[in-house]
Amino acid sequence: MKFKQSEKLYTKGLENLVGAVNSPVRAFASVGGNPLFIDKAKGSKIKDVDGNKYIDMVLSYGPMILGHRHKRVEKAISKALKKGYSFGASTNAEIKLAKIVCDAFPGMDKVRFVNSGTEAVLSAIRLARAHTGNDKIVKFSGCYHGHMDAMLVAAGSGLATLSLPGSKGVPSQAVENTLIAEYNNLESVEKHFSEHKDIAAVILEPVTGNMGVVQPSQEFIHGLRKLTKENGVLLICDEVMTGFRSKFGGAQELLGIEADITCLGKVIGGGFPVGAYGARNEIMENVAPLGGMYQAGTLSGNPIAMAAGISTLSELKRQNPYEKFEKIAEKIASILTSAASKYGVDITVNKFGSMINPFFAKEEITNFTEAQKCDTEKFAVFFWEMIKHGVFLPPSQFESWFLCSALSSKDLENFEVAVDAAMKKVSEIK
Ligand SMILES: *Cc1c(COP(=O)(O)O)cnc(C)c1O
Repeated sequence: MKFKQSEKLYTKGLENLVGAVNSPVRAFASVGGNPLFIDKAKGSKIKDVDGNKYIDMVLSYGPMILGHRHKRVEKAISKALKKGYSFGASTNAEIKLAKIVCDAFPGMDKVRFVNSGTEAVLSAIRLARAHTGNDKIVKFSGCYHGHMDAMLVAAGSGLATLSLPGSKGVPSQAVENTLIAEYNNLESVEKHFSEHKDIAAVILEPVTGNMGVVQPSQEFIHGLRKLTKENGVLLICDEVMTGFRSKFGGAQELLGIEADITCLGKVIGGGFPVGAYGARNEIMENVAPLGGMYQAGTLSGNPIAMAAGISTLSELKRQNPYEKFEKIAEKIASILTSAASKYGVDITVNKFGSMINPFFAKEEITNFTEAQKCDTEKFAVFFWEMIKHGVFLPPSQFESWFLCSALSSKDLENFEVAVDAAMKKVSEIK
């Protein structure tokens, strides 16, 4: 397999782009080698600039849940393109997408569209503070909520991959209202509640993807809902990754909880830049123009992005691929574990609907501390062998792999061959 054109573009890209990437998760820092440059994609496959074809399990880190360039989505985008790109005034498409989203989340009467998951979270936090009059926010280590200052502490995703404790350039005042708790540990939250009376919200990934996939225990998630309610603290579910992914109503539907404020992104834009935050009327009425909490956006509710979102969500509803995802994830888990036991490699597979990833560790992974004990060297060897056998995975041990509804049984056969080769290679590490 040749990567000549990717290497060329990487060198060229280094001149005027930072690390030749526009998001650090795309760098291959933790797996070694140079990042791949992509030419195009269709269905479950993605092709790099050298003409190598891969089964895509990155899927733009989640958005491409139908696979690439689904014909109904492509048609809707082309139609919208012909009407104009951006107006600075409302369109019917915004109302349509808002209806689909609010119907999917029972705790949501109104929604505001923004342009990214980061923007959704920073607005949701401002809203929680506006609504409660309190400033403190509890977040969990290993959860990633975008790159706003106050959330860049003990965060997962690229920070975990690059082993960064937080970020330079974040003033200490920006994080002095951020309290850190441990995922799946209700006592760590209770401790903050007993020490601080001015907590506005607890924010979490209801199922994490940004330290790898970690599910909350029933006691933890239901206990957290009860505890926040009793204390008049808002619960913010950051479903930027999980929204519409493992169930149409997000992780909340599968776990049986209702957030006070929900953040969305990724799937909701079908590959275009869309984020959203929504809540009950009494909370959303704080947002301008109805209330005094200001939040705005020149391109928010962009008509092309709305068309992509509406068509993606409508098609998702039509296909209802969630049971199929469960079955495929089951199959993938069994492929991984049987190859691992065949070659004597220790792994733990965590999954949630269409999100799955193996940790190179023997023990269960239930929080960030445990996730960080994984053997990232083994992951790097595994990653490159998977690439060589035509499977594109996120270049990090701490990112979820994603499934799309375009995956075929032939793809799964090829995936199995790749996993066998990759696990063999891992077992040969001295
Ligand atoms: C991706 C992600 C974000 C940030 O979204 P961007 O669109 O990258 O700004 C926030 N929260 C979670 C849970 C995410 O997975």
